[in-house]
Amino acid sequence: MKARILLVEDEESLRSTLSLNLELEGYEVVSTANGREALQLFKTSKFDLIILDIMLPEINGIDICHEIRKENKKVFILFLSARNLGSERVEGLKAGADDYLSKPFNLEELLLRIEILLKRKKTTLSDPLSQSFTINGCAVNFITYEFTNILGQTDSLSKKEAQVLKLLIERENQVVSRDEILNEVWNYEVFPTGRTIDNFILSFRKNFESDPAHPKCFISIRGVGYKFINHEINNE
Ligand code: CA
Repeated sequence: MKARILLVEDEESLRSTLSLNLELEGYEVVSTANGREALQLFKTSKFDLIILDIMLPEINGIDICHEIRKENKKVFILFLSARNLGSERVEGLKAGADDYLSKPFNLEELLLRIEILLKRKKTTLSDPLSQSFTINGCAVNFITYEFTNILGQTDSLSKKEAQVLKLLIERENQVVSRDEILNEVWNYEVFPTGRTIDNFILSFRKNFESDPAHPKCFISIRGVGYKFINHEINNE
């Protein structure tokens, strides 16, 4: 699958040159010149990497980076900025960026850095931890979607259930908002009704919790989202 890149750059000629070159490399590129629009695009669509200028109309790149990191720790962010003092680079990285390249830059270097970042993602995905996981003594296999429930019976997850479960596990001990689950798992598809995620959580409790009526692993935070806590590991 083509990696999707959001390019945020207000200098028109640079934006079109970069778009073209990224597309030639096989990436799918969405671009904007405006900071506010960049955040809107990020919220309504899914990207693997964001190339972010700092000095932008309406919302600057550093603020955009902070906003994105409040909700999403995974998407790669690469700053591309004319601000190239050491302290400015530090500010960018502190805001949660993965990389920082100063303008003027060498196109080949930029493409290489992007390739390296996106490879890092592949490694994370093939991490054995993301292929199987144990909750309360119940083994879940994310390759075959099979699991054993709390009674020791084997059953299977739907693809969406597996994706939601994996997302909660990856974000262990953090509250994952409903919107985030919808964005990550349903992506461009038609969003399900609000009950769908609740029903998934109910089913996770039924399958993995010792006492589903008093959940300890799959917690709902009213009006905010859901949190996975792995008591098994905490108790060791
Ligand atoms: Ca600019």
